[in-house]
Formats: sequence, structure tokens, C-alpha cells
Amino acid sequence: MTTDPDCIFCRIVAGEIPSFKLLEDDRVLAFMDINPANEGHCLVIPKAHAPDLFGADDDSLAAVATACRRVADAVRRTLDPPGISLTQANGPAAGQSVLHLHFHVIPRREDDNLLFNWEPKPGDMDAIGKLAERIRAHLEQHPSGFVAVR
Ligand code: 5GP
Ligand code: ZN
Repeated sequence: MTTDPDCIFCRIVAGEIPSFKLLEDDRVLAFMDINPANEGHCLVIPKAHAPDLFGADDDSLAAVATACRRVADAVRRTLDPPGISLTQANGPAAGQSVLHLHFHVIPRREDDNLLFNWEPKPGDMDAIGKLAERIRAHLEQHPSGFVAVR
């Protein structure tokens, strides 16, 4: 599998940097964003390093799309937000700061005034960890091959 030792998300995949993991299989990892745009903001990535949408192989992309829906569904069951956005940036001009393909799963409210490209602000790690546990509980109830991970 392609990996880049200087890539922060490859290091999360390798377990060298801790993360609040949500689900994992051989192609995909989902985990909490530590600078959440809104409460419950998660990231879904292919394990194989690809800088953006155009560098990813089709199988990884298909697995990521399936995982995005499962994570979004678990977030919906956990927080019951009135909306959820999935967004993905290609290139710094689009707001991409980590050059490993990732999809953001972001709970939305009508009045959240969330702008794409938002300013990242450090989150409360205790609250993010507790929320990850609640989302995992919903993932575990899903009749799929995915297993919620810690
Ligand atoms: P981008 O700006 O590239 O679309 O999104 C990168 C995302 O990665 C940001 O939302 C940022 O908060 C998140 N991020 C950056 N470094 C880390 C990290 O070490 N751990 C986690 N969980 N998220 C990170
Ligand atoms: Zn990477």
C-alpha cells in the first residue's frame, strides 16, 4: 500500500499519531477531526496515500464513499442534526491543508454560518473522545462488514 512517512494522515493510519477512530477496514479509516468546524465533525480517508481525488484508485474511492455514508448515518443517529455536509477539497486554493485525500462529514444547523473554508480552531479533546464513543455505538449497530474501532 502506498504510504508517505511525512504525511500526517498516513501517520494516523500507521498509529504513530493518536486519533479518535470510528471505523476501519483494509482500505478505509474514519476518525474525529480535532479542530471541528461543528460538533461531530469527522474525517473519512483511504488508507493508501493519495494527495487528492485525482490520485486515488477507484477501489479506495468506492470504499471511502461507502464509509462516508455509514459514518454520516451514525453521526445523524448520535446528534440528530438538521443537516449534514460532506465536503472534500483538492488543492490549497480549495482550502486543502492536508495533502492526503479526505472527506469531511460535518453536522449542520440552519444558522451555523459555516463558510467553506472555515478557520480551524482546536477542539475539546475530552468532548471529542466522548462523542466518538457515542458515534461508534451507532456504527456497531449497523448490519455491515465494518467494525467500529478504538
Ligand atoms: P483540509 O483543510 O485539508 O480540507 O482538512 C484537513 C482537516 O484535518 C482539518 O479539518 C484539520 O482539523 C484536520 N486535522 C489536521 N491535523 C489533524 C490531526 O492530527 N488529527 C486529526 N484528527 N485531524 C487533523
Ligand atoms: Zn498520506
